Amino acid sequence: MGGAEVYCAICGGPVSVPFWEDGDEEEYTYDLTVVQEDRLDLEWLKDVRVIGEDPASTGLSRIWVSGVASHDEHGYFYLEEGDPVMELFGEESLRTYAYKGHHSFALPYHQTCRTLLSKYLNVGSDDTENDGSDGIDNDMFFQVLRQLADTSEYAQALKLDYGSVSKNQEQYWCVSRGDEHFVHSPLDIPRLERYLVRIPWMEHERPMHYALPRGQYDASDPISTLPMELRWSILLHLDMPSLMYLFQTCRALYATQRSSSWWRRKLLADMPWLFEVSSIEAVVTEEWARVYKDMWLASRYTPSAHKITGLANRRRIWEEILPQIAGPYEKLQKESARTDLPDILKGASSTGLRRLISPEPEVNSSFRYYFAQSIAGLRDAHIEFHVHLDQEQFIRGLHFAEGPQRSEQSAPTQDAFDFPTTVESVQVPANDYLTGIIVTSREIPEGEERSRKIVGLEFLLGSSTSQQVGSTDGDRRLIHVSKDHFAVGIETFSSSEGGLSRLSLLQQPALLSRGIDRFSSQGSTLDHVNLEAAKYLWRKQIPPPGVQISEHHSGYWSYAMEKDLSPMEPLIFGTTDAELADITAISIDVLFGGIEVRYGSRPSRSIGPRNLAMKTLAIDGQGGERVVALKYVVTYIPMGIRIVTNYGRQLVVGQTSRRQEELMQYPHQDPDTRQFTHLVGMYGYWSSRDTPKSRLEAVGCLFAAELGGQHQGATEMPELASGQSPLWEPSAPSGVREVGPILGDFSVKESLGINSRTLEVLDHCPTVSWIDCSRPLLEVRVTLCHSFEERQVPLSAITFKYADGAKEEVNIGPEIHPQSPIDTQGDGNDWCWCTLSGRKTKDELSVHPHYKQHVWELRDKRLQSVRVFLSPIDEEVGRGSRLAGIQFIAEDGSESPKWSHWNFSSDDGYVIESIAFTDERIGLKLFMGETRRSVTYEDTIVYALQAMERLV
Ligand SMILES: [Zn+2]
Ligand SMILES: [Zn+2]
Repeated sequence: MGGAEVYCAICGGPVSVPFWEDGDEEEYTYDLTVVQEDRLDLEWLKDVRVIGEDPASTGLSRIWVSGVASHDEHGYFYLEEGDPVMELFGEESLRTYAYKGHHSFALPYHQTCRTLLSKYLNVGSDDTENDGSDGIDNDMFFQVLRQLADTSEYAQALKLDYGSVSKNQEQYWCVSRGDEHFVHSPLDIPRLERYLVRIPWMEHERPMHYALPRGQYDASDPISTLPMELRWSILLHLDMPSLMYLFQTCRALYATQRSSSWWRRKLLADMPWLFEVSSIEAVVTEEWARVYKDMWLASRYTPSAHKITGLANRRRIWEEILPQIAGPYEKLQKESARTDLPDILKGASSTGLRRLISPEPEVNSSFRYYFAQSIAGLRDAHIEFHVHLDQEQFIRGLHFAEGPQRSEQSAPTQDAFDFPTTVESVQVPANDYLTGIIVTSREIPEGEERSRKIVGLEFLLGSSTSQQVGSTDGDRRLIHVSKDHFAVGIETFSSSEGGLSRLSLLQQPALLSRGIDRFSSQGSTLDHVNLEAAKYLWRKQIPPPGVQISEHHSGYWSYAMEKDLSPMEPLIFGTTDAELADITAISIDVLFGGIEVRYGSRPSRSIGPRNLAMKTLAIDGQGGERVVALKYVVTYIPMGIRIVTNYGRQLVVGQTSRRQEELMQYPHQDPDTRQFTHLVGMYGYWSSRDTPKSRLEAVGCLFAAELGGQHQGATEMPELASGQSPLWEPSAPSGVREVGPILGDFSVKESLGINSRTLEVLDHCPTVSWIDCSRPLLEVRVTLCHSFEERQVPLSAITFKYADGAKEEVNIGPEIHPQSPIDTQGDGNDWCWCTLSGRKTKDELSVHPHYKQHVWELRDKRLQSVRVFLSPIDEEVGRGSRLAGIQFIAEDGSESPKWSHWNFSSDDGYVIESIAFTDERIGLKLFMGETRRSVTYEDTIVYALQAMERLV
């Protein structure tokens, strides 16, 4: 639908200079004689600031205000270079009016309109220009604006009544003849200034050329007996038509209007927006009646010779909009005047208000609870919380309970919920204190939508014990005091409709707690919690103490990922060397559905929603093999993972790209501290976890500085063949070499929409593997996925189960572990990404699931040869032949099935080649590359093969 504009939160006008074109109908242009009146430029429209909130801020005020911001489109604003707000978010532009955006709600306003608001509130000092403060409290100002937020997806302004300007607030600002006043500065009005300086001299300029009809004399009129002062006050509150009527009917009142000073008072009462008048108070003029009339005409919206457009705009904003902002602001002002910051909060910081639920209620109030008036008062403070649970046992409120030390700090509406609650009380023992709170939450389906609700609160105490309310089963969020700090209170966002939505601890430096007995056990707690874990929400389990957490890596599809609502899943490989030595294998789902670690004597551990097609790297943990490096390829989402061990063996899933990969190499030595860190695990975040379209959106590393009894070999980094392409997986063979032609090598010109490109298939195969075909076999298993190309076998995996020795299995590609199917196609098959691809064979999708495994039993026989079906590429578009199918032949002449693409028929003119295995020719090299379906996740398949022979 193209772009859209947003409007000033205060005046509702455009935040850039509007334009129209020469050919536009006059009705949709501005009258240039009006727009250029007084050489008035429209630059003030560009002096825009953005105000917003940083809930993660550790200061007690979380509000930021940008410098000059220029509007782009869709509510995005660019800030000037070096603007601290840019650095705060680390982004190039800020989005406004996005209630559900990834950074907090922010909105734009004209600096001029804010100054006008300050005059309305009468809070600005005369020195505003000099001291840079306009007297508006940003916290209260933002709180008011946020409560007026329009929460719809394409909001362009606040949810207040913008009055006459709302008709112009279309997708783009509507320029319309007669409405020029909307774009004129309400403060900088040269024509008004020129008029006002003339006031003292007016009486000499021209006679007052309008006269009111004389009132009729009535001696019995009781009004004539009233003192003048009283008569004035009665008339002050009447509008013009009533006044005119009264002047005509009552002589005593008629006399009143002849007093210029009465008109001055009337002007101040009726036109508070003409604040300049108060500064010319000392000037005597007999012409206030005329000033009144002139200003009344000048400030009307309808075009006329009297209209002063800037003044008309000022009056409009003042009368139509500012009361809606000033009313709630003044209410907050009164409330805050009653609650001065107590001693205990002076100089305090916050742990950052973490978002706990979704959707976030539209209206929130922030509440601060503190444990005592002063730090000394903590000595015998009674600390007790009330946890409010609704009827479904979801936690909806957290308050500081009544107690001896409670003062008026508690919010007046603290117990008001729009739903019934029961209360559980949590007491911190007199010799103990609060160090943190773990919030457990879960995503709950609610019709089409999903919402996150709090199911448990665990209060962590200094004695390393805790008190639990509700459940611990769900996603876990640690909210904890910083190192060397102690808690003095809590802060919450809460609303009567949504309940508790954000939470932080208020804290002071530990130094200040000296001499208070209940804090004497401090110091032990940090052995029990992982403070670094507080930066993410964790699925089920918070990483244990001692584990360091890298920043997550996510792609540009995840720009809207909200950290507070995206549970990371931690996979701990091991936190001691004994645990790492017990590892026997690591597997990753080739479509990024999950990661698993298996152990010799421990239960396996896995993360992710779907361990369906697992590609495995066997690891000889007992023999000293350790994972020492992780690589990610992150483009629009994480698209490749590569794991490397100190034995120079590796597992590659998805893309490998030297350009984009991010290497996390362990053991890593910190250049400053010279301390070594070791890889102990990784983590990931999957979106839409319970659907087949679930995506891995973010990945990161877990590492540790110290590992008990670290194995010596584990600090040796192998020669990583990073510069060499293709990569051998799991490792380059020794004692063998390639021989003969590469079967399946081809190049072909492909058209993709309007583009065409040439696919050189071997360049497209970043990994190669080899498999020993000389040993006796129990069985061969082959996995085919859905076809994506006519005449190309979609060969996902080959597994050889050997009959000799330890009867080991060697896998090229993934092993399929069918799970409970998510039958969204209605035919008994799992949904698969092929559904979204243009390259699919529809009838195939309904016949078998995405992966189909075939087993060919050999019962201790060797292979005699492999037969390869090749489909030559049309010479006009390329060269070489595609691999269309393969078939193994055993030493006794028995044949495996022909594994081939969908709709394969032997008489389709394939070229058949054969590789016979001999004493020298003992194996196959397989060239692995991605399918080309153009969907989120591609399979890796065998594109080509080549014989391998023994080196003599
Ligand atoms: Zn404005
Ligand atoms: Zn499929």
